[in-house]
Amino acid sequence: MKARITLAMACFIGFILCSAAVAYYPALIVRECPHCKAHVVQEDTLSGNTIGAKYYTDGKREAKMLPDHPALVKCPVCGGLFWVQESVEVDVGFEAAEGKQKVLAPSEKEMLNFLTGQELPKEKEFYLRMCCRWKVNDAWRHVANAKPSFSPEQVKNLEALSAPFDESLPGHRILKAEIARELGRFDEYLLLLSYQFDEDYGFVVSFIRKLAQKKVRAVKPFEQGK
Ligand SMILES: [Zn+2]
Repeated sequence: MKARITLAMACFIGFILCSAAVAYYPALIVRECPHCKAHVVQEDTLSGNTIGAKYYTDGKREAKMLPDHPALVKCPVCGGLFWVQESVEVDVGFEAAEGKQKVLAPSEKEMLNFLTGQELPKEKEFYLRMCCRWKVNDAWRHVANAKPSFSPEQVKNLEALSAPFDESLPGHRILKAEIARELGRFDEYLLLLSYQFDEDYGFVVSFIRKLAQKKVRAVKPFEQGK
């Protein structure tokens, strides 16, 4: 009996430890704003998981236990934007963060202004253009039968995002096709999808092809059986 209880206890403790290991835990980091030198708090992920996560056709992932933390943030004190990784880390921990303001996620307009105001390395430009795309799509991401519409600046952003993709790579071709679908350019879309994709891409290609056949322009979560 004693041995059984001990085993049950061990299993229970193991379960708790395993659950704890994958639960979302934030790390709070105090950073110095490079513009006004204020000490502000940035949240990062210490641990998390993607259980129950949703993946969308525009590449966005929504995971409650693994939230996305922006790489470019807005200072809550002066409103200046700065890259988290390039800012000075002052302190770490909940105690250090107490009473300090948290950094904000920049809006789509702020990111577009940031993009046009300077020459950025390719990967940073890609990251920001993708963030802008997700922010725009968020407006109808959870809306049934949504009819997306883009401003000229938003169209320009999607075109600039699509241009560098290499059509000889199947993954790139799908990303390019999806931008064409969002823009309602279905002829271009079908041309991009008329390609011999590997079996690995079968589910994705068949899912997005069905959306195009129905002339759906909105982003959708990938769901089995649809
Ligand atoms: Zn500042």
